[in-house]
Amino acid sequence: MIITTDPDVSRLAPAWERIRDTSPADEAVPLVLDCARRLLADPGGEEARIWVSGLVAMSGYLAWRPEPEAERAALEALRAAVEALGGRPCPHDGHPYEAGMGSLEDEVWNGDTGLLTGTLAAPDADVETERVLCPANVAGWARLATDVIAPLTVRRIPVGAPESHHDCISVLSGIVNDYPYGDPHEDLKHEAASLPARPTRGVLAGYLVTMNATCWYAASERITDRSVLDAMIKGVEEAVLLLEDRPCAHAPGEHPDTGDPDYANQVGYFLRSPGGRAEIAEYYGWDEEDDPGEESEAPDAWVCPAFLRDVAEETLGELASGLRSFEAAHGDGAATGA
Ligand SMILES: [Zn+2]
Ligand SMILES: [Zn+2]
Repeated sequence: MIITTDPDVSRLAPAWERIRDTSPADEAVPLVLDCARRLLADPGGEEARIWVSGLVAMSGYLAWRPEPEAERAALEALRAAVEALGGRPCPHDGHPYEAGMGSLEDEVWNGDTGLLTGTLAAPDADVETERVLCPANVAGWARLATDVIAPLTVRRIPVGAPESHHDCISVLSGIVNDYPYGDPHEDLKHEAASLPARPTRGVLAGYLVTMNATCWYAASERITDRSVLDAMIKGVEEAVLLLEDRPCAHAPGEHPDTGDPDYANQVGYFLRSPGGRAEIAEYYGWDEEDDPGEESEAPDAWVCPAFLRDVAEETLGELASGLRSFEAAHGDGAATGA
């Protein structure tokens, strides 16, 4: 049962649930604007949790090419909720939103936050209502949604990428360090085909950075099946088409250096989840203040479309040169006994 005195919510909640990355703007935008307006009106209030849950439910739409007006309104309201609720002391050592972070499938939360009813479906049914409705839990969900919509702009997200991402880093780390554990042909083709049709900004950036980290290996004579090169070229070319037209807001020298494949490989997977972004920001000190006047990389530049276009161009250049060498060595047949 939804805990609220607002009669609109029982009508709105099912409509929020239906909003997805595929939703047309004329369906999603009015719902987002309405929800954001109500949250912004009282971001620290008793019912802020309701409007936060609405924006979390619609984050699939908000993370994939939303109308700029809807994105702005949602981010403004979510940030106001974080500001109003996030600093309140509470007696809990953990909150239910943290358990949700490990299973963020391609970042977008499609499950129940429990914020409307004060209860969570199994397997977390024993989590008490007080912890679900705690302002720190509401602020936690607002932080996660903000960071999925606008990656690397939120602080104080708990550290921890999903376990499956750690596994991918370890497999690809073997490859980029020239010490593969499994069959690099299969692992690279699997990675090349891993991009969802409508990726979040973090997932898309991570994919392109990982492709860049692994392309030197794919372009080398270690690869004996050209379908690896074909799959990676196809994957990167398709990913570039998904980049937005957002203008670059960075100063010279603020775009990251991807010259170290081992580092880029780690960043590539950590970019794909809020907990992963928090993990790498902490590990590499991205959150620390730099000396004034010193030229340094801006963490949010990792998701800058202009930066990612340059990265993709470099990757495609390397892969094309690998393909030419492959054909020179093997002829242009499809495969040679891999
Ligand atoms: Zn609490
Ligand atoms: Zn930029």
